[in-house]
Parts: sequence; C-alpha cells; structure tokens
Amino acid sequence: MSMNSEGRVTRPETTSAAARAPATFTGNRALMLEEALIFERDDYARTGVDLPDVPHVSSRLGGLERSRPIGLPGLPEPEAVRHYTRLSRQNYAIDLGLFPLGSCTMKHNPRLNEKMARLPGFADIHPLAPVDTVQGALAVIDELAAWLVALTGMSAVAMSPKAGAHGELCGLLAIRAAHDAAGSDRSMILVPESAHGTNPATAAFCGYKVENIPATADGRVDLDALVARLGPDVAGVMITNPNTCGLFERDMKRISDAVHAAGGYVYCDGANFNAIVGRVRPGDLGIDAMHINLHKTFSTPHGGGGPGSGPVVLSAALAPYAPLPFVAKQPDGSFKLVEEETADEDHPGSFGRMAAFHGQMGMFTRALAYILSHGADGLRQVAEDAVLNANYVLRSLDDLLDAPFGDSGPCMHEALFSDDGLAQGFTTLDIAKGLIDEGFHPMTMYFPLVVHGAMLIEPTETEGKATLDQFIGALRSVVGRARAGDEALKAAPALAPRRRLDETAAARKPVLVWKDAPLPEAAE
Ligand SMILES: *Cc1c(COP(=O)(O)O)cnc(C)c1O
Repeated sequence: MSMNSEGRVTRPETTSAAARAPATFTGNRALMLEEALIFERDDYARTGVDLPDVPHVSSRLGGLERSRPIGLPGLPEPEAVRHYTRLSRQNYAIDLGLFPLGSCTMKHNPRLNEKMARLPGFADIHPLAPVDTVQGALAVIDELAAWLVALTGMSAVAMSPKAGAHGELCGLLAIRAAHDAAGSDRSMILVPESAHGTNPATAAFCGYKVENIPATADGRVDLDALVARLGPDVAGVMITNPNTCGLFERDMKRISDAVHAAGGYVYCDGANFNAIVGRVRPGDLGIDAMHINLHKTFSTPHGGGGPGSGPVVLSAALAPYAPLPFVAKQPDGSFKLVEEETADEDHPGSFGRMAAFHGQMGMFTRALAYILSHGADGLRQVAEDAVLNANYVLRSLDDLLDAPFGDSGPCMHEALFSDDGLAQGFTTLDIAKGLIDEGFHPMTMYFPLVVHGAMLIEPTETEGKATLDQFIGALRSVVGRARAGDEALKAAPALAPRRRLDETAAARKPVLVWKDAPLPEAAE
C-alpha cells in the first residue's frame, strides 16, 4: 500500500494502471493533489485573522461560560482556501461532463438563467420586504405560475414547496384536506411497486397506509390489479408518469377515471416531466396534483441556493385547498400576497403553509428565464431531444446489456438495463465503478427495484452526439470487461482519488465526527 504523508492509504497497487504510475513523495498525482482532513492539517494556534487580545472583563454568564475552545480547526486563509479548492477538484459536476443519473435529469444549467437570478432586483430582496416594493419579483412568480399551469393543463399551482418530495407532501395534504372537507376518512394510498422511494415515504408521513400495485411484464402499472384494489378506503394513488422504468403509462387516463369513480384522487410524481413537457398536458390525463421539479425539467441547479424547487399543479377539485401564501393579481394589475385563510381573504380552504415564505425565488427566476428563452416550441423540442438521446443510448447498448423492456418499443427520456449477462460474481456496482475510471459519473443503480441490478441512464437533451458516443464507448468497454470476467474491474476505480469504498458501512455506520483531535487545554 502507498500512503500519503499523513499515513492515509492512497491507492493499492493491485491494478495494472496503478502499478505503472510511479509513487510520488507527496502522494499527489500531477496536479491532482492529495488532501488530508482539515483536522489533520489543523494548527490551533494559526488562524486567518489577527485580533488584539480581548481585554479582561468579568463574566456575566453565571458559570455557563465555555471552559475550553470547541476544537474548530485553525488554518491561515490561503491554506483554508486551498483545502476546499482541492476537495472541490475531486468532485464531479455537470459542468465537467455527462452526468447520466437516471431520474435526476442532470441537464446543463444555462448561464443566462444565472445572470437573471443574480440581477440585484431579484437577488437582493428580502421575503419580508413590503409587497409594494417587490412587485417585479411577484410578477416573476405569477408569470412562472401561469406557464406551469399552461404547460400542465391544470387549474392552479402552489409555488412554495421546496423540492419534489416536499411537493409530494403538498399534494397529499391537499388530497387529505379535500377528503376531510367531504367528511371522509379514507386511509389508504396506492403506489406502484416501481415508485420512487419518496412516494410511499410521503404517504406514510401524512399518516396514510401504503399498498403496492404490481407492474405488468412490460413495466407499466397493472391496470386490472389497480382497479380491483380501489374501494371506499382508498384516498388516492401516486403514479409516476413517465414512470421510473422510463416508460409512458399509456393507461393513465383510464387509471384516473377509475380512481375518480371510486372517490379517490390521482397524484402524479412529475419528476420525469422533462420527457413530455410541451407534448402532453397532465391535466388532460385526469391528474389532480403533480409536483414539478424546477431543478430537473426547468434546468435550475439541484440544490442551488438551498434545496431545489417543487411547485405543485392542482386540479380544480384540489385548488381550493392549496397552501398559503400565494401571489394574486389584482384588478388594477398589481400583485398581492394572499397570506391568511380567513374568510375575508379569497382562500378560506387552505390546508396551511408548506414553508415560511413564498418559495425559492432564485429558482423561480432561473426557471422563468429558461422557459422564456426556449419558448413553447423550444420546450417541446426539449422533450423530443431528451427522448431521442435516451433511445440512442438504449439501442447502442442493447446488444451487450439486457434491456428488460426493450422489446416493448421506444423508451421515454431514460434507458433501463439489468445486470443479466454479466459474468458470475460481477454486478452493476462494478460497472458503475468502472465508469468512474473512464471519467464518467455513474448512472443510477439498483433503481427501480423491479429490475434486477438496474442501471437507469438519463442522458438528457443537452448532450451532443459526440459525448454520447464517447459514453457509449466507455460503457461498452466496461460492460465487456464485466461480461468477460476481468477481475481488475472489481477493484475499480483504480484512477480516482479514493478507491472503492464500503458504501454500505458508510451509509449504515457513518463516522461524521472527528473524535481524535485533542482539544486544546483551557486557557487561563
Ligand atoms: C427526484 C425525484 C423525486 C424527488 O424530488 P426531490 O426534488 O429530490 O425531492 C421524486 N420522484 C422521482 C421519480 C424523482 O426522480
């Protein structure tokens, strides 16, 4: 094993690639620098600032004052900056290369969006600013809301939810409010077995029982099984469309009609709206509530400036229960915020609030910039190109990788493969780790659960053919090694800053606290 100067293992020599490279004194590899934990680099006596000694004053904390420093690392400013910059270089990012994570829609974030979001009139306002001083920002929210309503063919939109999962919560709270208002205490939410984990989690969080609906052999919701399960206890269903197998649920309208006839509501997980935006309006499919991940379909950064943003479009039946606050246009063209559910406001049925304020302003500005720069025709092309790219990936690999639903026609915006056909002992994980050595972020693995060793690849529409061809070539090479039983693949990644980690242990027994740092003695 080689160690860096801190004695940490850098990379074993078991792979030929690692063996060929000379060991270095520092453990650095050319301009990729090894980096110790900040606590290991720490010298408590050093800091980035020089402060005069604090004059002695008698404490008024009644004996509650801290008896010794809390053990924060001390580094001069240039070393602190370098520490984080070095770490950042070990990250992969959408601005570095293809990020084929299925379900996540890691598309390019146009810089125009950033420019708009940084305009001081949007970036520097405060959510408590008087409404008449932020009319422009409220107009942005209102205009984005109008686009989302038009693109989905729904009645209303709740803008405040801060991510897809938060939007699911909003939608289910609206469904529950509607049932409460009708005096019904339905307790069951039906969820297909291919659903994203957030769907059953949200339903359970709302206090519902959750039951799975099986899939058919072609990867879609089993309509007959669903209809057979409907009854007076079912509050609603949560269905992803296009679904997590990358397939359009062709029976969606029939599903909605059956659910409505049985007195339930239809929640659609809209995380895959990227595949159908501009082509299909969920409202026409009978959907009652759907979240839109602005950070997926509308190209705002994932986690940009906080969480993402998950507005929820609502049908006429659920709109009266939408959360507060929301922006309303007044007859004179100005905007107001509806903040209370009192009778003298226009919205007495609201189920309450999802968040303290109006939602993610920075994401709204970015999403509106994206929508306006594409226009209606451009958004339709987004969906078409995303689907085209995914089918290009699907058909360029399906001779080598098993595509479980490949025979049932084209996919939507993501291509799904299984681990069938890999050599004994080789898994999806080996493919993912091999891709890291090839310079690509891995695809989504082991999801959806209905496919063994699933690999879900979402190229998105912002990748060109040259990039896709390189990715396909890399994946063909790695899959070829896994089919041939190349043992070195099991040690991949060989070229990354860190070797293969025990991810199960990291998730189950995370070590999040640096325990060994000796705290400095109490200063007198
Ligand atoms: C991303 C995603 C979610 C959750 O969205 P977040 O914004 O991450 O909370 C839910 N369902 C599906 C299918 C998704 O892809």
